[in-house]
Amino acid sequence: MPSDPLSEEQREIRDLVRTLARERVAPRAAEIDKTAEFPWDMVELLREHELFGLPYEERHGGSGTGALLVLVAIEELSKVCATTALLLAVQELGSLGLKLAGTEEQQRRYLPLLASGEWLAAYALTESGSGSDSAAMRTEARREGDEYVLNGSKRFITNAGVASLYTVFAKTDPADKHGGISAFVVESTAPGFAVGRIEPKLGIKGSTTGEIFFDDCRVPAANLLGEEGEGFRIAMRILDRSRPGIAAQGLGLAQGATDYALEYAKSRETMGKPIAQHQLIAGMLADMETKCEAARGLLYKVGQMIDDDVPDEELTKLSAMAKLLCTDVAMEVTTDAVQILGGYGYIQEYPLERMMRDAKITQIYEGTNQIQRLVIAREMLRENRAFLLAGTG
Ligand SMILES: Cc1cc2nc3c(=O)[nH]c(=O)nc-3n(C[C@H](O)[C@H](O)[C@H](O)COP(=O)(O)OP(=O)(O)OC[C@H]3O[C@@H](n4cnc5c(N)ncnc54)[C@H](O)[C@@H]3O)c2cc1C
Repeated sequence: MPSDPLSEEQREIRDLVRTLARERVAPRAAEIDKTAEFPWDMVELLREHELFGLPYEERHGGSGTGALLVLVAIEELSKVCATTALLLAVQELGSLGLKLAGTEEQQRRYLPLLASGEWLAAYALTESGSGSDSAAMRTEARREGDEYVLNGSKRFITNAGVASLYTVFAKTDPADKHGGISAFVVESTAPGFAVGRIEPKLGIKGSTTGEIFFDDCRVPAANLLGEEGEGFRIAMRILDRSRPGIAAQGLGLAQGATDYALEYAKSRETMGKPIAQHQLIAGMLADMETKCEAARGLLYKVGQMIDDDVPDEELTKLSAMAKLLCTDVAMEVTTDAVQILGGYGYIQEYPLERMMRDAKITQIYEGTNQIQRLVIAREMLRENRAFLLAGTG
């Protein structure tokens, strides 16, 4: 088994999640994909085993076991069902705004409900006209007495219709770009809040992806996160800490596909021997395993950096790198795993075509991998490595 930086306690929790994944989640994965129905039974399973508590501190009803373990849990669940793993990843995504910028009162009010899984969370940044360019958003929030009135809509929101709490970004100063954005927490019962169409899609089919609307939606002023105008910075600080969760989803898919293809290759025979003994297949398996292990090294490093509370400027680049590497590995490795199964890889009786479809989204959401490359290059350009040029020219 590969070595890892986990403590004894972290390994115990990982093993519990691994067992749950194999015994309770894996048997449901194909059906969730086929019916494309939101898996409330999986929500119940995560509630029962207190897995929703992993991203939260003990004082907020969580386990206080840190960010690295959340990544490990997402990885383990993704090995068998990326939709179930996403429940945990989005719970964290939807509550990071409160954790990073919420007041004591806001945190006390909402985080325990999210840590128990009683409420599901969502993160609403994207609009139909603004995805990568989030500062081009058009949703507005106008202050009226002790309320904000929101108007506009968001698109592609994971957990739309099932979440009770949405972290929403809106322009309090429409004339300004990045500096005009503010962040709010909006309860699904807020007057003027509505859920629109839920999108049919290629993968992670049991997860809801939908539109939400704000039609003179009234939110208490006390639900503003941070100060007016701080929304863009909050959104980016959240993504620095949530992208590793998507990286973990990608890594889990890649490792799960590798494990499946390996077992298949040991038993499927052609030309008188198991296909694993044909060098071209053995080479593919070796590359798949190596990519997973390299991706895991980077991902766990980022998890530890979050737990060590490193400064934002250090985290941004590494978090984007982990998202980029793990999710590109997910797409490459699941595609190769389908190839190793030959025709059986392509049919629904086997899980690999689902894993390949599920892998694709990891390269797209929480910032496409083109955007991750832009972020990494931007951070590099800020670094000073001029000493390397000393003495040249
Ligand atoms: C299933 C699903 C779930 C999602 N969940 C959420 C969610 O919970 N919350 C949320 O807020 N959003 C969510 N999203 C939205 C997702 O984050 C966006 O779709 C994504 O960021 C890309 O935005 P876009 O679709 O508008 O593409 P665009 O921004 O229009 O990009 C189109 C293409 O151009 C590329 N591109 C754009 N700008 C540049 C550039 N400057 N340089 C190089 N290439 C560029 C992109 O990489 C992409 O390939 C979800 C999307 C999906 C499909």
